[in-house]
Amino acid sequence: MQSVQNPTTQPATPEHWQAVYREAITDPEELLEALDLPSGLLPAARKAAALFPLRVPRGFVARMEPGNPDDPLLRQVLPLAEEQRSVPGYHADPVGDLAAMPIPGVLHKYHGRVLLVMTGACAINCRYCFRRHFPYAEAQLSQRQWQQALDYLRQATDVSEVILSGGDPLLLPDAKLVDRLRDLDQIPHLSRLRIHSRLPVVLPDRMTRTLREMLAGSRLQAVLVLHANHARELDGRVTEGIRGLSGSNTTLLNQAVLLRGVNDSAEAQIALSERLFQIGVLPYYLHLLDPVSGAAHFDVELDTARELLHTVRARLPGYLVPTLVSEQAGMASKTPHVNNDGVSLY
Ligand SMILES: *Cc1c(COP(=O)(O)O)cnc(C)c1O
Ligand code: SF4
Repeated sequence: MQSVQNPTTQPATPEHWQAVYREAITDPEELLEALDLPSGLLPAARKAAALFPLRVPRGFVARMEPGNPDDPLLRQVLPLAEEQRSVPGYHADPVGDLAAMPIPGVLHKYHGRVLLVMTGACAINCRYCFRRHFPYAEAQLSQRQWQQALDYLRQATDVSEVILSGGDPLLLPDAKLVDRLRDLDQIPHLSRLRIHSRLPVVLPDRMTRTLREMLAGSRLQAVLVLHANHARELDGRVTEGIRGLSGSNTTLLNQAVLLRGVNDSAEAQIALSERLFQIGVLPYYLHLLDPVSGAAHFDVELDTARELLHTVRARLPGYLVPTLVSEQAGMASKTPHVNNDGVSLY
């Protein structure tokens, strides 16, 4: 394995987690059979999967409850007939990201932070994701585009934080991440590196020693933002993977999406926050659903969401209460929705 101090790029050797990634379940029939679910769910699943494929790692399926079509983990990945409904107000590009790209793969929307789309690929296909309408499955910053992104960052001297996103940036092999991080390390006005990834949760094998060494060896202060939506996603293997990062000087945060039928109760949110803290992660954001077409059945109304957070705040210490936010095109930050006695500040 290559360490961050080693300047030579080795020819890529396959990593164990990449095999686990490739073995994901992609056939709706196999998923239903693995969970003892009625085959009556199959025709709709096949139809919806034709528009946005099913993809779920086997380790994540193992955390689902067999025989339960309403399992909160299953609901995040099972293609449903509801996805075919066209609902007013739901769009293909709900957050206007395409308008905020000065060059391909570079999103500069908020002060001091630049987001880089490292890859379009994900290890899991979440049914509520805006990504369902971007056919960029294997797209990623090419070598030339990466150089352009670096040029952009070098001249953007008021940027102090780079956010690696996607898709899922941790799908890049370690050797490539090491190269990318070395390039970023050399830009003097950068001080923080943030990685947004669902892999620590859905593919814990990804948490390699090289990853830890890379983060520990960087000049940049690292922040890893996990994406877990439900306490049951955080099992022993996930815990082990996260613990593997100890000593890498990485701050661990979580962001979740508020999803009807998945985590839209105060109990589910409280359990998630408490479980996150047990494994050393603080809740950061709770996102309202982006109004992406095909996902309207996941929507939780703003008033319901505020009330739910109100209950959570009454029961947990402040540091375990995520900030309820939504993404609105053209704003200087994500929009927080604060509830004090039912009055929103926004
Ligand atoms: C969400 C987001 C960020 C980060 O915002 P924070 O409030 O700092 O988490 C940065 N850039 C883009 C384009 C984003 O969508
Ligand atoms: S970008 Fe995140 S939410 Fe969307 S499919 Fe990938 S892992 Fe799921």
